[in-house]
Amino acid sequence: MKKYTKQMEAQFLEVYCNCCGRQLRTQKDMILEGAFPGHVQWGYFSEKDGEVHDFDLCESCYDKWIGSFRIPVEVKRENELL
Ligand SMILES: [Zn+2]
Repeated sequence: MKKYTKQMEAQFLEVYCNCCGRQLRTQKDMILEGAFPGHVQWGYFSEKDGEVHDFDLCESCYDKWIGSFRIPVEVKRENELL
């Protein structure tokens, strides 16, 4: 869950893990640790047609979540973009 707070004209991003509730480390509008931004727009063939769901997970909750998958996530290495 992301929210912006205002302090003396400047905006600061606050991010909370929706699973464990922990506040993630941020600096201004940057997240300073691993985070999973979840976003899904449910469509016609779902039971949630028209709903948009947003959430954020800390890296540890993400690891627990994907650890419960029967088929592991595909892991690829991206070349660092400079
Ligand atoms: Zn968490």
